[in-house]
Amino acid sequence: MKNIKDYDLEDLKEELISYDEKPYRAEQIFKWIYQENITSFDDMTNLSLELRQKLKDNFTLCTYNIIKKQESKKDETKKYLFDVLDGNAIETVLMKYHHGYSICVSSQIGCKMGCKFCASTGIKFVRSLTSGEIVEQILAVERDAKIKISNVVFMGIGEPLDNYDNVVNAIRIINNPKGLNIGARHISVSTSGLVPNIYRLADENIQCTLSISLHATTDEKRSSMMPVNNRYNIEALLTACKDYINKTHRRISFEYALAKEENDNLEDAKRLARLLKGMLCHVNLIPINKIESGIYSKSSNENIIKFRDYLNSKGIVATIRRELGSDIDAACGQLRRKSLSSKEDA
Ligand code: SF4
Repeated sequence: MKNIKDYDLEDLKEELISYDEKPYRAEQIFKWIYQENITSFDDMTNLSLELRQKLKDNFTLCTYNIIKKQESKKDETKKYLFDVLDGNAIETVLMKYHHGYSICVSSQIGCKMGCKFCASTGIKFVRSLTSGEIVEQILAVERDAKIKISNVVFMGIGEPLDNYDNVVNAIRIINNPKGLNIGARHISVSTSGLVPNIYRLADENIQCTLSISLHATTDEKRSSMMPVNNRYNIEALLTACKDYINKTHRRISFEYALAKEENDNLEDAKRLARLLKGMLCHVNLIPINKIESGIYSKSSNENIIKFRDYLNSKGIVATIRRELGSDIDAACGQLRRKSLSSKEDA
């Protein structure tokens, strides 16, 4: 069976034509799925019984079940573990900001990139998610929390640009006014630095925000933290970023997780300021989340503030990310791994 959420609007129109249906039906179906968030084809009451039956015979609605949900007592962060209906599980995090609800979606089951600071490192890569499986994370959270999501970040498990076509298709569905209708500027794609696909994304004519996991200022240090840097070094990465800015006129966000005595001293801040000089960018400083088996620990508050202040003094806008869900397993990978290990322990 095909997942109906894998289709963007134009593809669904084509599909319906092949079933001798009028293409405008696709818009009605989109409304039921993305605006009414229904979970059964029977709920599509303005479609004929015959068409509803055709849909049931040929498509699934891919509606996730919640395996586990953790809710923060300090803020409204919720972390979900969803059953993706093939025996695998993925995680999704809902966060509340003053501007609305933001969701952090996974793009793959497991990840190939092996970043040393990431809790999903060690979980073997299983497969990439389809675009419908990505989009369903948003719908499932909206149904459960009874809210409307206004921002989507591709920063959960997986490297989004390693699942390029499905992620781009998911963005088109999320952004479509007849789909989830979330503005491209409220959609952010985070990459560890797959340079060729940064160039491709720049040419897609999607105005989404690109977020780069930078985390170090020398190739030696970055390669030790992120193996992807052995393939695409800092110079190649920043050249691709400049191309993205030139083509999209969008400000890039650089993620920099501060780890105690690894990348958090003033020399690092000085090198970072030199690397980013003159770029249309913003630096997001992240107090690293101490993970159970992690080799890094959190920087002191004093170092984090000094680092930020130095960058700001050099004209580079830097902010410290608020730690949301710090009382639950908010670093990517942790909830899934715990659930897997408790299954293994059982
Ligand atoms: S940080 Fe992201 S890209 Fe790196 S291993 Fe974790 S999930 Fe993969």
